[in-house]
Amino acid sequence: MLKVEHIGIAVTSLARSIPLFETLLNTPCYKKEEVAGENVTTAFFKTGDTKIELLEALDGHGVLKKFIEKRGEGLHHIAFEVADIESEMTRLKNAGYTLLSEQPKRGADNKLICFLHPGNTAGVLVELCQEIKSPGQDRG
Ligand code: ZN
Repeated sequence: MLKVEHIGIAVTSLARSIPLFETLLNTPCYKKEEVAGENVTTAFFKTGDTKIELLEALDGHGVLKKFIEKRGEGLHHIAFEVADIESEMTRLKNAGYTLLSEQPKRGADNKLICFLHPGNTAGVLVELCQEIKSPGQDRG
């Protein structure tokens, strides 16, 4: 695993939380993106080499909505950048970790992602993510 790519924080209202995090981090939200497959709207902030991702439940449905109902707003997941998500998924599966999807899924911020079941990771939801490389586009 290469680095902590971002930290995901569950919020009930992006409209309320975005200005709070813009002031806290002293940097503007650079991207807002719906991820229909995960039923969330995300907002991203750069903090040096890492990012903060705020997540709001889309249309008030889905697993994030349930997470917030159960545990309230707060730390939702830690995402690690990997060079080859499929080989990391195979490595972790063989080591006994439970993957929440058999194949990498399309996530926010131009990433392929896969979540690990928090039962094997001290209750912390872990996301693997790999940048989708598009030809002719330099990495930021
Ligand atoms: Zn994430």
